[in-house]
Amino acid sequence: MTLRLRKGSTREKNQSFVRQSKPFILGLLCSALALGGGLAIANTHSKEVTSDTGLRFIQIAAKNKEERSAVAQTGVSIEAVRSDSVWVFANSKQISRLKERGFHVLGNFDYKTSRGGHETLFDFPSGDSKFHNYDRMTQELHALQSENPDLVSLTSIGKSLEGRNIWAIHFNTSKDALSQNVSNKPGIVYMGNHHAREHVSLEIPLMLAKHLVDHKNDPQIAQLLENRDVWIIPMVNPDGAEFDISTGSYQWWRKNRRPNGDGTFGVDLNRNYSYEWGTGGSETDTSSETYLGTNPFSEPETQAVRDFVRGHLNLKVLLSFHTFSELILYPWGYTYDGISKTKDQETYKRMATTMAQWNHYTPQQSSALYIASGDTTDWSYGELGIFSFTFELSPSGMEGGGFYPGQKVIDKVFKDNLQPCLYLLQVAGNPYQVLDSGTENTWLSNYVQPGSFAQ
Ligand SMILES: [Zn+2]
Repeated sequence: MTLRLRKGSTREKNQSFVRQSKPFILGLLCSALALGGGLAIANTHSKEVTSDTGLRFIQIAAKNKEERSAVAQTGVSIEAVRSDSVWVFANSKQISRLKERGFHVLGNFDYKTSRGGHETLFDFPSGDSKFHNYDRMTQELHALQSENPDLVSLTSIGKSLEGRNIWAIHFNTSKDALSQNVSNKPGIVYMGNHHAREHVSLEIPLMLAKHLVDHKNDPQIAQLLENRDVWIIPMVNPDGAEFDISTGSYQWWRKNRRPNGDGTFGVDLNRNYSYEWGTGGSETDTSSETYLGTNPFSEPETQAVRDFVRGHLNLKVLLSFHTFSELILYPWGYTYDGISKTKDQETYKRMATTMAQWNHYTPQQSSALYIASGDTTDWSYGELGIFSFTFELSPSGMEGGGFYPGQKVIDKVFKDNLQPCLYLLQVAGNPYQVLDSGTENTWLSNYVQPGSFAQ
């Protein structure tokens, strides 16, 4: 277990928590965040949001991955992990269930005031014009294409449930590759915004696209673009992302906008991939934040990603951006077991620890937090052997603004992660090369010194 403690010991944090009557949270985890099953079950047309007024923010004693997984199995999903406990959103029914099963509730707070006492941090739409909604993102992608026709093409990999295009921007120096959208160069794909409210996870891949274009004549970037096939899918879940900002105040929405037929909406796209689907850490309850869907790949958004990835077998590396917690995660999520192919396991570890030099995130196997099945990276590695990572971007916790840290963080998060992104772009040529001593990152160390983006 490599949970990173910040600002003093856990004991000090607990004392601080009691004094301030607000949570001091380590590592909120989008990968399994639950708002108690129905915080924002809303009607798309009226845009009215009904909140579960019984929603509470609960701290439960759980000190290792087995205990955290057991908490998740009660039907709530874990929002935050500390060394001795987890935080979940839960309604009264779920709290009763937790107690019946013997879990010790350490803290129980009103949902609104439990937002760390930083209510204003969550007023996202009013002051965060730098963030891109779907239309603005689409305009920017079109502009990138029209201004760089020899390098960039824009294509839709499919439509969301509500009919929005899921855009992919393609970089290749070959005209044929651009027009046909296929290439035999080693490929990489970056994805963002599987989860609706994780808007920072859209901004980073979008900025990466702009960075590649702006620096296309820099020798190192030019060399990479010459030798790689690069794809960026910045917004996998446009319906959810639009819904999250549809009323002028944030909806804390995570899933897509699937009407489940029982008054609830949404499937958790990051629990809907087929590899070991439904084997733990996801819910069959339609109102759950981690509802896995009726079938693997039941959703058009995950189908689009599936078909795109399966259609581009030159892809060697995949990076899926989420927020938040400052983690570098790699398979498996569905099991505590490590990767059986020793060479792959070592390659993952080397890649993750190398990237952690630059962004100072914590590198670890996904299930070291708790079990979660049906996510993107288990599938893309498990089915296709693509070296696949999830970044849980900044902030590190709720005290930094959680899902809604404000536009002030965007530039720094990008700087923190530019180098890891370029590193992956480089090693996509042959990920196993990272195991060779003395050959790694030669040009990268010349380009930007490791640690130069330290906090
Ligand atoms: Zn997420």
